[in-house]
Amino acid sequence: MATSPDLALRTRTGEILMSAPCQRIDFHWAHYHIDGSGFSFVALATLSRGSKGVHFKIEHQPTGVGARYFPSTNMFSVPTANFGVSDAWQKMALVHECTHALIDATHAKQHTRSIHDELAAYVASALFNIYSAPSQSGPFPYTPVGIFAAAHQVALNIANATGYAISPTIAAPLRQAILQKNVLYPHPNSSYDNNGIRL
Ligand SMILES: [Zn+2]
Repeated sequence: MATSPDLALRTRTGEILMSAPCQRIDFHWAHYHIDGSGFSFVALATLSRGSKGVHFKIEHQPTGVGARYFPSTNMFSVPTANFGVSDAWQKMALVHECTHALIDATHAKQHTRSIHDELAAYVASALFNIYSAPSQSGPFPYTPVGIFAAAHQVALNIANATGYAISPTIAAPLRQAILQKNVLYPHPNSSYDNNGIRL
């Protein structure tokens, strides 16, 4: 029986969120707590088809962008129906976007600083990558470069420390790397318009 692209994406995203590497993620940054419980909520939301739940759209992505999440419409945007099937970087991209969804769910009706959200999303996906490796010394399924290298370094610092509160000092190089990517993030003080997610 054929499976619709939408259902396949929902199922795949939910499975990644409920996987052991994703459920091990547990850290505090700014006013966010990013952990397995939050990701479980987002996984549940992928099962819900309500109008205020999450949605998936398959469309062309801008240069340098793997996938996107729009908090005001709860919309995940991915380039292909097969996104995240096997490629380690694509799975990380889904964890990144689901971190935005987690913040949307836990900070409903709040504007959050995009730089804080991006930093949390990059750290979460880097931790997912590290926890997906056989050991903390690797080999990691994805070799980080550029902005991902900075995120990987933060993640290595906090891996296995449950509930670690990331300090501005540890975050500083990654913050700088994100701000330099000004193609993706129009200005340092921009915010994301979270409206919450319903199951
Ligand atoms: Zn992001």
